[in-house]
Amino acid sequence: MYDCLIVGAGPAGLTAALYAARANKKVLVLEAKAYGGQIVNAHKVENYPGIKEISGAQYALVLYEQVKALGVEVKMATVLRVTEDKKVITTEGEFTAQSIIIATGAKNRKLNIADEDEFLGRGVSYCATCDGNFYRQKVVAIVGGGNTALEDALYLTDIAEKVYLIHRRDEFRGERKYVNELKTKPNLEIILNSTITALHGHDVLEEITLKNDQGEEQTLAVSALFIAVGQEPSSEAFNNVVDIDPNGYIISPDGVHTKTPGIYVAGDIRQKTLRQLTTAVSDGSIAATTAILEMKAQK
Ligand code: NAP
Repeated sequence: MYDCLIVGAGPAGLTAALYAARANKKVLVLEAKAYGGQIVNAHKVENYPGIKEISGAQYALVLYEQVKALGVEVKMATVLRVTEDKKVITTEGEFTAQSIIIATGAKNRKLNIADEDEFLGRGVSYCATCDGNFYRQKVVAIVGGGNTALEDALYLTDIAEKVYLIHRRDEFRGERKYVNELKTKPNLEIILNSTITALHGHDVLEEITLKNDQGEEQTLAVSALFIAVGQEPSSEAFNNVVDIDPNGYIISPDGVHTKTPGIYVAGDIRQKTLRQLTTAVSDGSIAATTAILEMKAQK
């Protein structure tokens, strides 16, 4: 029986573990793949207050070591189901805890084209606000038609020399006001009805190939491709103990509680407006502190 079981060893989950362990709680963190979460893909983190610059991988390593040094147990296991009485059924057996913090995050949806993984961090990025600054005065492309792609395209027009916004349909899913604003940007070119079919480069990304609805191909020379084609939250294993919105995010009206007492949510997996490292660690600290206070009140 653990005091606090945390699902997900990204920044939100590890921060929750840090706070719970420092409050002398017996803590277990379950992680399906590797510690660190999405931040390990960030080439450089330059927007975390108090740290001028750090690689995402280094940040994750330091946080992980900080948590381990406090005696937190971290196990590799995929959570299959959670019951209302806080039993966590995993690929590696069952665990019970007084409180559970769900911090499984969301993964960026991939384009699923050849070499996408190979160019990750070397031209391919899923986060314009994290990595846009590395392409100052360069030619970049962004793919997607939702609000993320539109907002990111606007952000990139202030940084890059030229921005191609590539969308697979002739209409954007995102809000009209962003589209109207984008149309006023002289360094933006919108390419509709087109999909990206190939990535090229030696070591770093140099070109992308597009194909339009008529089957015509064109190749663009770009230093970066920002992929903003939506997110895939990892919430299915929890659907009997939390409310989930149509996009798969866990609903928490106050940003910490779920519909089940003793089960809390933190980080990118919850419905929220800003998914950043700063907001993930904030969520983790609030979830752990809330869980600790409520466990104490029950005694
Ligand atoms: P999204 O709204 O799901 O949009 C994803 C976009 O990617 C869609 O345009 C989709 O095309 C395209 N797409 C999906 N798979 C693709 C593929 N394999 N190849 C090419 N294109 C593909 O995702 P999002 O933009 O990340 O936004 C997620 C949610 O957060 C939305 O509810 C959004 O409104 C919200 N959000 C709000 C704000 C804001 O209000 N300021 C900012 C950011 C995000 P189709 O349109 O053809 O399906």
